[in-house]
Amino acid sequence: MPPTSPNTSLDPTDWRALRQQGHRMLDDMFDYMENIRQRPVWQPIAPEQRQAFREPLPRSAIPLEQAHARYMTEVLPFASANSHPRFVGWVQGGGSPVGMLAEMLAAGLNANLGGRDQMPLEVERQIVHWMRDLFQFPDTASGLFVTGSSTANLMGVLVARTRALGADSRFKGVNPPGAAPLVAYAASTAHSCITKAMDINGLGTQALRMVPVNDQDQMDIESLAQLIAADKAAGLQPFLVVGTAGTVNTGAMDDLVSIAAIARQESLWFHVDGALGALGMLSPTIAPLLKGIELADSLALDFHKWGQVPYDAGFFLVRDELDQLNTFASPTAYLARHERGLGAGSPWPCDLGFDLSRSFRALKTWFTLMCYGTDQLGAVMAHTCALAQTMKQRLQAYPDLELMAPVALNIVCFRFRCDNADAVNAEIVADLQESGIAVPSVTTVHGHTVIRAAFVNHRTVEADIDLLLEATQAMGQARCQRHCGNKG
Ligand SMILES: *Cc1c(COP(=O)(O)O)cnc(C)c1O
Repeated sequence: MPPTSPNTSLDPTDWRALRQQGHRMLDDMFDYMENIRQRPVWQPIAPEQRQAFREPLPRSAIPLEQAHARYMTEVLPFASANSHPRFVGWVQGGGSPVGMLAEMLAAGLNANLGGRDQMPLEVERQIVHWMRDLFQFPDTASGLFVTGSSTANLMGVLVARTRALGADSRFKGVNPPGAAPLVAYAASTAHSCITKAMDINGLGTQALRMVPVNDQDQMDIESLAQLIAADKAAGLQPFLVVGTAGTVNTGAMDDLVSIAAIARQESLWFHVDGALGALGMLSPTIAPLLKGIELADSLALDFHKWGQVPYDAGFFLVRDELDQLNTFASPTAYLARHERGLGAGSPWPCDLGFDLSRSFRALKTWFTLMCYGTDQLGAVMAHTCALAQTMKQRLQAYPDLELMAPVALNIVCFRFRCDNADAVNAEIVADLQESGIAVPSVTTVHGHTVIRAAFVNHRTVEADIDLLLEATQAMGQARCQRHCGNKG
């Protein structure tokens, strides 16, 4: 029966028409994925396109077809296109058709995963158990989905801080008079979000010791031990060491076994930033490089990178749930939960992290793991490492190009040889991006500006490497001629 009073429902009056429009929208996204290789990777946003999104708040409606058309013409072509096989600029995943469909199902359900006794939470707990087993954590382990590893690393620092200062620091604050100031350690190659986490945690970035690295870009273990000894002698309290499983710059893997040994000996919390590399556990060829990750007290990882789950899908795992509850739970709330009804099932995710309202990130992750299987996902990761080795080999055929860092995993840092190489290589990268041929990025390795190619996407193949190398060579020669009049 159509309602006679003013209809405030957001559902359509004509479901048939909506279904047809929905099919067209879905088809457009299947087309996008199926034909993505034919598109430019990226194209600069024209000023009028940008201007189109400076409109006043819409008081009245436009038809769905019209909003869809605007999305297809004004938004989609100007995305950063990390789903494209020649997007190699940053460590970003490619997504997948299965992940997209699962995300649609989750949005339709509109579940809020903060808590309550609901089956979507069992899907999330399924993944917690899978991660616990994958990383050989004990049965006491707990975890939850978060936006990304920036948040998971922040939470790792917070749990470590609460462990060091005691749960009453949540009441008293982090700088009790007379207490020794806390200090933490991470390799100089650690992700910038670790520094940010120290800042947000109120400990200050100066309390993070940047440990020098060895010639393989791994944390230098000797230096770590020396820094800890010096800090203790100065009356400070070392409380945390962060190891990185795959650095964002060069893909270096810290020696997690040795770091764990020092952490145990010095009673430090051992957190691993596995944003890039942790899921390499799914590949028999990569897993041995991660040895020692099973000794971590807490772990950050991203399903949206190597795991190819659509954004966002970060994950935080803790060895002992008690530490996570002590840090995040509000005891008055969680101890007062019900035995029956929707209020049962404590502890809830809201007791294990910051967020109360949470989306159903677990669903797209569950679909991805189930529908591709972890053998294939592991093979994708191994394939990206093989691509990096192939690129390293093929670089040798280009006398103008040189390798700038060891290739430990899936990242290749290289550059065009030239006078004024730092400036020229930065321009080559912008030229490549604007050409639409490929998107590498610029980074700094041992003081040199270099071109970085990070292979993460499951769609990338060897032919993409040749296109990237050819284009780099051509643009390098053109740039260099303009800059210095010779190739140096
Ligand atoms: C990507 C990355 C991060 C940050 O993770 P987000 O998911 O982008 O928040 C942290 N550490 C490393 C090593 C990374 O590669």
